[in-house]
Amino acid sequence: TTLVHLHHHHIAPIFRRSWHSLLIQSSPQSIWSTTSARFKTTSSHHVFDSSLHHIIPCKSFFSSFGESKLRTQSSMINREYSTNERQASTENQIPPQRSESLDDYEPIAQQLDPIENLPLKNSNTMREQVVLLGTGWGGFSFIKNFDLTNCDLHIVTPRNHFLFTPLLASACVGTLEFRSIVEPVRRARKEENYFYNAAKCVQIDTDQKLLRCRPVYDREKGDYAIRYDRLIVSVGMDVNTMGVRGAEMHGYFLKELDHARKIRYKIIECFEKATNPRLSIQERQELLHFVAIGGSFTGIELMSEIHDFIKEDLSNLFPELMLECKLSIIEAGPQILSTFDKSLQVYAKKHFRNEHINIYTGRKVVEVRENGVQLDDGSNITAGLVIWTAGIQSRKLFHHGRSGGLPLDRAQRVVVDEHLRVKGYEGSIYAMGDCASIDTAPLAATAQVASQQGKYLASFVAQQLEGKEPNETNSFTYSHRGTMAYIGNYKSITETKEFKLRGRASWVLWRSSYLTMLLSIRNKILVPLDWAKAWFFGRDVMNFKS
Ligand SMILES: Cc1cc2nc3c(=O)[nH]c(=O)nc-3n(C[C@H](O)[C@H](O)[C@H](O)COP(=O)(O)OP(=O)(O)OC[C@H]3O[C@@H](n4cnc5c(N)ncnc54)[C@H](O)[C@@H]3O)c2cc1C
Repeated sequence: TTLVHLHHHHIAPIFRRSWHSLLIQSSPQSIWSTTSARFKTTSSHHVFDSSLHHIIPCKSFFSSFGESKLRTQSSMINREYSTNERQASTENQIPPQRSESLDDYEPIAQQLDPIENLPLKNSNTMREQVVLLGTGWGGFSFIKNFDLTNCDLHIVTPRNHFLFTPLLASACVGTLEFRSIVEPVRRARKEENYFYNAAKCVQIDTDQKLLRCRPVYDREKGDYAIRYDRLIVSVGMDVNTMGVRGAEMHGYFLKELDHARKIRYKIIECFEKATNPRLSIQERQELLHFVAIGGSFTGIELMSEIHDFIKEDLSNLFPELMLECKLSIIEAGPQILSTFDKSLQVYAKKHFRNEHINIYTGRKVVEVRENGVQLDDGSNITAGLVIWTAGIQSRKLFHHGRSGGLPLDRAQRVVVDEHLRVKGYEGSIYAMGDCASIDTAPLAATAQVASQQGKYLASFVAQQLEGKEPNETNSFTYSHRGTMAYIGNYKSITETKEFKLRGRASWVLWRSSYLTMLLSIRNKILVPLDWAKAWFFGRDVMNFKS
């Protein structure tokens, strides 16, 4: 038992008030914090049995802090701890993550009020109300470039950060830290007429120009409404499991930061579990087989990062397990990285063969199970971690008339004209990014497209607010800057209109491009620091479980 002596003068400089939340550390790996464990700091010493999370009743040290009170506090802490444990154990039974659920959008008991009866968030203003849905590539680019002089800007999104998705795979293995690839939405603008709502838009009433917003926190308190004069829709797309049995339940996704966090912990967990001497070789092989479903950018880059993680870090820490490790990519189409030129596809395939990454092409997954997948030819592949990276689908906001009759294409994306104005709602509703489709020239669902559209709309909507008429010269034009994919072992492939590049030179270009594309100075400093940290000290292999 380790006794930690906490002196009053240790606490005082850190905490200003007399009642404090304390952080109790049990071991370097596990940190348990509680806000209900409050201690009055009038006595000179408090003693904790830090390894057991119990407070030792030690009379001599507690002159002004009664023993009985201490016991009550202690039992409160224990109760809370066991509740947490219970929650954690039930969490293990729910899917690692879901795509959007219809329940997120359905009215819940007390939320059946018509939209016009809901409390209105932005009622007391005469200024033009611009409302933006989503803070992804499109939305964040809009926020950064929009002139707020003539209007109020309200952001509605459940995610309070912008996520730099091209580097998400690196965060799955600790090459980069999670906080280095996000930008806080609240800090994006300093103006007083910039408002953020941690809520999801679950209905658009285009007649009354109202949005039904469902708060992320305290959902049971009910929805509220936001009025808009101009609405910008940039809600992106959701994961599409194409109805494959078990994919939602047992598959891991890679779309949000939380997904990356879960993948990172799962990989580490698989390795730690595999060290149990009671496991058979077969069980170990099953645990250490990592499978990506989908041979496009996300699946390829993720497997490449996992490959580097194993080769550079885990091989030193778990040398006895290296023979059991296996990586596989399953692609339903005839080729992986199908958007690249044939020569680059061949190069990537050869590279993966050399690095012992298995590629299955022309094979469909028909079921995802707890311990692997079943393919359409009836064969089974056992695995410790299955990551679903194949396919996207429209948000549930556009299903069942929730979006108030906005025109949708066959993929249920909002149809817009060349000024990104929604057909039939010109002058009041705009859409961009993955969730929008230009009727004359549909574009790929990429960050490049979304961010260029965000920048364009920021200037176009500002012009409209000044009463300028749109014309052909100020319609949106997309400029393609090229495509890149990291394939592991400090190699990548690049294709632009002018040239094709592969190997190390391409990797240098890949890293420097993303470094320059990062949106803030903060991230431009953090990302290279993380790269250097991973290079010198290795990637982090802790999962903070106690
Ligand atoms: C792992 C990964 C790697 C990628 N790599 C690349 C790459 O290298 N290059 C590239 O060009 N593209 C890449 N992409 C694709 C790129 O990220 C998307 O095309 C891009 O994010 C689309 O931007 P968006 O603004 O349309 O939507 P998103 O970025 O998906 O943002 C959608 C926003 O809408 C919010 N939202 C959702 N529902 C609602 C609602 N009902 N109400 C309000 N808000 C809502 C979300 O919280 C989010 O803030 C990658 C994607 C992933 C997942």
